Amino acid sequence: MTQEFEFDVVVVGSGAAGMTAALTAAYRGLSVTLIEKSRSFGGSTARSGGGIWIPNNPVLQAAGVPDSPELARTYLKAVVGERVPEEKQRAFLDHGPEMMRYIGARSKYWQFVYDRGYSDYHPEFPGGLAQGRSIEPAPIDGRLLGGDLHKINQPTMSGPKGIAFTVSDFHDLNMIARTWAGKRTAMKVGAQAVANKLRGRLPLSLGKALAARLWLSLRDAGVPVWLNTPLTELVTEAGAVVGVRAEHQGVPVLIKARRGVVLAAGGFEHNLEMREQYISGPQSTDWTVGATENVGEGIVAGQKAGGAVDLMDDAWWGPSVRNPEGPPFFCLAERAQPGGIMVNHAGQRFVNESAPYVNVVHTMYEQQAAGVDHIPAYFIMDQTFRDRYLFLGNFPKRPIPQKYLDAGIITQADTLEQLANKIGVPAATLAATVQRFNAFARSGRDEDYGRGDSAYDRYYGDPTVQPNPCLAPLERGPFYAVEMVPGDLGTKGGLCTDEYARVLDEQNAPIAGLYAAGNNSASVMGNDYAGAGATIGPAMVFGYIAANHLADAREPQTAAAASASKRATNGRKPAARAGQE
Ligand SMILES: Cc1cc2nc3c(=O)[nH]c(=O)nc-3n(C[C@H](O)[C@H](O)[C@H](O)COP(=O)(O)OP(=O)(O)OC[C@H]3O[C@@H](n4cnc5c(N)ncnc54)[C@H](O)[C@@H]3O)c2cc1C
Repeated sequence: MTQEFEFDVVVVGSGAAGMTAALTAAYRGLSVTLIEKSRSFGGSTARSGGGIWIPNNPVLQAAGVPDSPELARTYLKAVVGERVPEEKQRAFLDHGPEMMRYIGARSKYWQFVYDRGYSDYHPEFPGGLAQGRSIEPAPIDGRLLGGDLHKINQPTMSGPKGIAFTVSDFHDLNMIARTWAGKRTAMKVGAQAVANKLRGRLPLSLGKALAARLWLSLRDAGVPVWLNTPLTELVTEAGAVVGVRAEHQGVPVLIKARRGVVLAAGGFEHNLEMREQYISGPQSTDWTVGATENVGEGIVAGQKAGGAVDLMDDAWWGPSVRNPEGPPFFCLAERAQPGGIMVNHAGQRFVNESAPYVNVVHTMYEQQAAGVDHIPAYFIMDQTFRDRYLFLGNFPKRPIPQKYLDAGIITQADTLEQLANKIGVPAATLAATVQRFNAFARSGRDEDYGRGDSAYDRYYGDPTVQPNPCLAPLERGPFYAVEMVPGDLGTKGGLCTDEYARVLDEQNAPIAGLYAAGNNSASVMGNDYAGAGATIGPAMVFGYIAANHLADAREPQTAAAASASKRATNGRKPAARAGQE
């Protein structure tokens, strides 16, 4: 038998978008529940780097970042162009700082730090900032979660227990063999790990810290979160969304929503059928690092309720290396460091390797469509590169893990010619490509693709290599070819929403009672990526906007919903205690 419940608001999905929406709704005095499909909470957000891009937010202001609303508007417009309605861009920029202040004034867990110097992804665009506009959650002691600690979604790669590093630490750690800052940071992280062990602390950082901070805030605000509760469909009356049907721990439930439903159930990265339907070029669910539960159910439910979709052919792409034992490795820093290049199957460079990850994969797909095989592309590096930098999480000078060699993902050879022959790339072309690149490296100017010209390129470059920290010749064997596939952090297409996060139908009219945020909605970033955190930042902001719009609505969305609300019991919960399922 179907159990029935009723709240003002039902939020679907416990990532950054959903938890921020539920928290805001609770702070605005609404009764709210959050349902989450998985047995764990946090979705891709918990797996992520936790970077948040919100211009002019209070953390940036306190750090003295020279931003202004006008500058931010100019920059976002330059990044997304006409692809995203201006009102939606403006809503994100106007309400972002407000969201940070609003929740910060109410949650004792709301602590963030500036990612100093993590450049906007297009700092050379009007309004772009080389200092960056990215922040991240401060690390937090996992013991605060108590029995909920094991419910946090696990990252694709986790280090040993007790070790936690921040985005800024990661930046420095990449230079462990090259700079004093790298060595100092390694010592700091090591010393913190020892102190944590002695004191019994369980530090969480990056996306885990963000998910934990949101979860703890929800717990304090008394918001019931039902894990293991997948949405099955939206309930509509007279064209308005008035609730959801779900399965709560295997039992069918009907949860009525007096004011509305916020869909925040992530993207469709793990749904091969949808990927092939909407995205052209080779696709695989093995190339994404997004949460495995994200199969587009929120998007499809919204479509069934009449919602239109947009940006479905795009994703938060990034060149990635397959891992024979699990999720792939999303390459962030490797492409910027000097001494490696990317080539296609013709043995030619085709892109500024250090460019923002979304743009590099766009080029891979464009070139693939133009007829030259770029999938996988090859990342070519020499032994000097391997001796200097972390690679796929492995320390400098360490041998390439055998599993990559055995799986044919990485190929090793003493000479470039042998390498080319092994991977089936024309040897003469590869030799010419490397020779030309080496000349650029010596002069410090990449005449083909301008690698290292942008402050973004240089963020993960090697400051000890001058004049261009992203360029060094490839000359010392053995040489390596690493297959690079078009991986992603998740998809960015979804339900069309307006500046209030209301889901729009094909006629651009809002569907009463239905809101969407995060990867469940079409991104305010359009086809690009403004800076580190440009998926989580907007996810949180539009979750906040949705909840406020619901709170500001004086009446339930429809007359039918109003009469339904009188019949049902307010906010009954399943037997299990909130947040403890
Ligand atoms: C390794 C990695 C690093 C990243 N680093 C960053 C970064 O530093 N900064 C940044 O901005 N972005 C980053 N991203 C991308 C970012 O994490 C996501 O784009 C973002 O977290 C999406 O948030 P969301 O709330 O939309 O979805 P999610 O966080 O994915 O949450 C969606 C939730 O909905 C649940 N769900 C799905 N279907 C249903 C259903 N039927 N019923 C109920 N619940 C459902 C899922 O289980 C999931 O918990 C990274 C991603 C990864 C994987």
